[in-house]
Amino acid sequence: MKFGGSSVANAERIRHVASIIQAYKERRPVVVLSAMGDTTDHLLEAADQALLGSVDIGGVEKLHRDSAAELGIDFAPFEPLLQELKQLLTGISMIKELTKRTRDYLVSFGERLSVRMMAAYLKSQNVPAKFFDAWDLGIVSDSNFMAAELLDEVWKNIPMELASYADGASGEIPIVTGFIAKDKKGNITTLGRGGSDLTATIIGSAMKAEEIQTWKDVDGIMTSDPRLCAAARTVPEVTYEEAQELAMFGAQVLHPRSMVPCLKAGVPVRVKNSYNIKSPGSIIVYRRKGEAPKVCAITAVKGVTLIDITSAGMLGAAGFLAHIFNQFLKWNISIDVIATSEVSVSLTINTKADISGLLEDLRRVAQVEAKPGKAIVTVICDASKSAEVLSTGLEALAQAKINPQMISQAASKVNISMVVDDKQRDEAVKTLHAAYFERQD
Ligand code: ASP
Ligand code: MG
Repeated sequence: MKFGGSSVANAERIRHVASIIQAYKERRPVVVLSAMGDTTDHLLEAADQALLGSVDIGGVEKLHRDSAAELGIDFAPFEPLLQELKQLLTGISMIKELTKRTRDYLVSFGERLSVRMMAAYLKSQNVPAKFFDAWDLGIVSDSNFMAAELLDEVWKNIPMELASYADGASGEIPIVTGFIAKDKKGNITTLGRGGSDLTATIIGSAMKAEEIQTWKDVDGIMTSDPRLCAAARTVPEVTYEEAQELAMFGAQVLHPRSMVPCLKAGVPVRVKNSYNIKSPGSIIVYRRKGEAPKVCAITAVKGVTLIDITSAGMLGAAGFLAHIFNQFLKWNISIDVIATSEVSVSLTINTKADISGLLEDLRRVAQVEAKPGKAIVTVICDASKSAEVLSTGLEALAQAKINPQMISQAASKVNISMVVDDKQRDEAVKTLHAAYFERQD
């Protein structure tokens, strides 16, 4: 059972999550938590402040102190962690330097504090629980700080460390830090922002759990953003592949990387609503039992730049794309959507980084136009019915006078992506949602 930051944002929410954990006690859950609320962001801000010379963990300290007080738990065991955190910030403020390694060490306090809080509260409610820092369960990674990869040995370490809980010898519900790990040298690492999902899926997969539950405050995976489309509804079942695309293209489902362990172990992921426990939510499975719906969901991402590359030299020439893609590799910029014709290639990137160097390199061999202010609208669908999906969608867009500037559908894939102007993004999503889901015929 994984609960993200907003699910454990304050004392009241912690109480609520504790009651959910308690309701699932008989199913022997392992619980994975993120840092409380926006603690990770606040720690990063504190680091920036420290670089400017001021040490202040006021917000983070207050949140944890107040929550503990409200939950009636003793704060003494938390003091050493806060001390360590202050010392670390003092160190940063003195040397005015912040490496990726130090940054990971710093943000790790968020998750370390939240699991201690939850375990203490559960115990105070007579629910046997025990907190674990990820490394206590053998969750080890490489040393790629801020985006560490788990090492293969976690697959055997985790079941070994949790053996006594799994076989019933221990009844203490493990409450485990998401997001963090340690490298082989003992340095604390992090799995990248949103990494708690990965912690949950690796534990669930390594333990061959019945299912991995990730708890949100909406009813599972929705056909679209309910804030945008009032008629959005829950999608009961999606495949891993669709879920990955959903996550990649803006839906806040699961971190795309976090699906990898499930794919390997075949453990399903259930997305549950913490405000509606009875609702089954959505389940993410390897293969659907029933027939796939024509369209499963619509998502959108903004802040996209469309790059149009044209070169007459491309006509019939081998190696042109290789050359183009090499420039993106050189500048470490990842490409999302691509469409090509014989003499041109259009692609999209989604980065805040300065791309002038990349453009300069590309312009050595082709005409290049970069158009910012775009959005990608993605229809997750059964691509074997693409003609139907496209005709319904494009007809509706035509009526709304929205012209996609680029459309991409890969062979045997589960999505069709369209690039539109960012200012037309919401309208495009609403139009498509109405066309696919809100028509009675
Ligand atoms: N607390 C971390 C973050 O905010 C990890 C997570 O929430 O999954 O990115
Ligand atoms: Mg978070």
